[in-house]
Amino acid sequence: MVSHPCTADEVKPPSEGRLAKFENGKLIVPDNLIVAYFKGDGIGPEIVESAKRVLDAAVDKAYGGSRRIVWWEVTAGEEAQKECNSLLPDGTLQAFKMARVNLKGPLTTPVGGGFRSLNVTLRMVLDLYSNVRPVKWYGQPTPHCHPEKIDWVIFRENTEDVYAGIEWQFDSAEAQKLRDFLKKELGIELTPDTGIGIKPISKWRTQRHVRRAMEWAIRNGYKHVTIMHKGNIMKYTEGAFRQWAYDLILSEFRDYVVTEDEVNTKYGGKTPEGKIIVNDRIADNMMQQIITRPGDYNVIVTPNLNGDYISDEANALVGGIGMAAGLDMGDGVAVAEPVHGSAPKYAGKNVINPTAEILSGMYLLSDFVGWSEVRLLVEYAVRQAIAHKQVTYDLAREMGGITPISTTEYTDVLVGYIRHADLKALKGQ
Ligand code: NAP
Repeated sequence: MVSHPCTADEVKPPSEGRLAKFENGKLIVPDNLIVAYFKGDGIGPEIVESAKRVLDAAVDKAYGGSRRIVWWEVTAGEEAQKECNSLLPDGTLQAFKMARVNLKGPLTTPVGGGFRSLNVTLRMVLDLYSNVRPVKWYGQPTPHCHPEKIDWVIFRENTEDVYAGIEWQFDSAEAQKLRDFLKKELGIELTPDTGIGIKPISKWRTQRHVRRAMEWAIRNGYKHVTIMHKGNIMKYTEGAFRQWAYDLILSEFRDYVVTEDEVNTKYGGKTPEGKIIVNDRIADNMMQQIITRPGDYNVIVTPNLNGDYISDEANALVGGIGMAAGLDMGDGVAVAEPVHGSAPKYAGKNVINPTAEILSGMYLLSDFVGWSEVRLLVEYAVRQAIAHKQVTYDLAREMGGITPISTTEYTDVLVGYIRHADLKALKGQ
């Protein structure tokens, strides 16, 4: 049995690997990279094991032994509660801080008042300010007529907006104080049965988030970056987000971009070759535009609440939660995590779809670490498996008339496709 560090003092990285470093705003990655991870609750152990096997196979195929992952297991959730008497031990937080490159399984959120989600705690402690949700179609069943046009990356701000948790119940002393203040100082009268929440959106948090989104767009050769906001109504929060996003993009990325206005006024409606078109859309319009004009969007950068809504809508269009990958990023630190939860009813049954966890790890390695070949191989394997109808129960249910394969069989299938892939040909595509 692996013994996990419970306290920060007990943390010791594996001696056969080296930790990534963060210097002058750049991640420095060794060839024997330590990746910290915990399996989490419910289906977590099965999908994390699957992801590790697939990612190891991809790294091995891509770099023929010259690069490898040294996995560093720590603990969280129910297992950690038993071992360390804490659902998220200090040892785990410390290991994630040190490793910088991290993967996690889903955690069950205990039900009960006053309990802060472990995922929220992790994001706050590591200051993982951008939640990245890539949405892509790999051939799985979809309700969309043109799924081949879907290639979106939703950049959801992770630390502020109404999610900051600044709110008071209507009958609390604090709500009363605020209502009194608003009435006395600002002439705004609210009825005594009014609860109050605050929506903070700041310039520097907006801009560090937008910077990450732009870097992602440039690295991946995307053609569109769209600022999604509700600034027509919430002028000094969402409207300011829009303005600060444009300001940052036009000051730091001017050479890469052209605005939609410029395309219309200077370039006769045609985006100049090699430029990213930057535009903005009001949130409600954006929600329908991704359905009606899927090919007109790539990176969508937005505050927290909009990001929550649109990423669920977007994922529903490409086969649902078993395929929905996620990556939380901060400065020189990232945690890969699928969008879905611990699905306790499937725990230990070896039936669940591990693709979301696998794709999350893939983006961690390709986009955060910079091992881009991993993505070519993993995406190829997933596409092949779906094309040959080698899928788990969730996709089999949608495809109809197919016998699903187990989580471990599906993992074997992906590893097989990776081992036999022609990487050169994939690079040329
Ligand atoms: P869930 O775990 O996401 O599962 C809900 C349903 O989604 C499952 O019953 C299954 O639907 C489908 N599903 C989820 N993962 C799947 C996968 N890998 N492959 C195929 N289908 C999948 O949501 P929940 O049951 O509401 O939440 C369970 C626990 O997880 C809660 O404690 C919640 O707080 C927690 N949670 C954690 C995270 C996280 O750690 N990031 C995120 C969300 C929720 P069918 O039964 O229809 O097939």
